[in-house]
Amino acid sequence: MAYGNTTLAKGSDGDEVVELQMRLAGFRGTVPDGDFGPGTELQVVKFQQDYMKRDAPDGVVDDATFAAIEQFAADQPIDFGSLACPCSRCDGFGQGRFEGEYRAGKPHVEAYHLYEYPGVHKMLLWAVRALKFYLPQYNFVINSGYRCAENNKMKNRTSTNHHGKAIDLDVPLGPGEDRRDDMRRCEEIRGLLVERSAAQVGWSAADRKSLEPANIAPTWIHYDVRSYRRKYLADGYFCISSEQLDRPSA
Ligand SMILES: [Zn+2]
Repeated sequence: MAYGNTTLAKGSDGDEVVELQMRLAGFRGTVPDGDFGPGTELQVVKFQQDYMKRDAPDGVVDDATFAAIEQFAADQPIDFGSLACPCSRCDGFGQGRFEGEYRAGKPHVEAYHLYEYPGVHKMLLWAVRALKFYLPQYNFVINSGYRCAENNKMKNRTSTNHHGKAIDLDVPLGPGEDRRDDMRRCEEIRGLLVERSAAQVGWSAADRKSLEPANIAPTWIHYDVRSYRRKYLADGYFCISSEQLDRPSA
């Protein structure tokens, strides 16, 4: 069954549910495991409450809910130009190198994985859409999207999180605002991502979307999926264009 053709509800499973879980990543949010349990039901309820303004959200993905998810995507276009790597040596999203290789002398965990993933993780981008929906008063810009190994070498960076697993967002200062306003706003945004999107500050729990704490990212929002287990970082979860992001994979 293709995504969008069949009603989905508690007990449903399969690739259509994976697609749904990705699309609602910013409304609470689960991992894309294809199992429509209580966590996924809560995602649907939150979406029906907050986006669809339903008085009686039922957690069932019917035709109207599918249509609303399409509208939500259309409301919040993602600018892949600003996500692309600025190195001018790759095509914008790395060269697919270094899979299974890690930084010398470091444990074999995702934070040190050198793989240039094939695009940006879809869950992050859907979560950014929800963030923009919840905070329409802020003009979010993507400061850093993909930064491949070449770009890291040029900039003497050792972090590989921006090989498709991280995005840095910023809200430009308004008239008369200073750094303290910026820091306060970033704290507010992180708080909202924790509450609405089930993100964590730091990386202690597996399979949660993560935010860098204020001492690392005082005046921007760093959002990543590096604490996901490898199975949720499969190549198919990454995308390089709006068409790939919005095209149901099931
Ligand atoms: Zn590059």
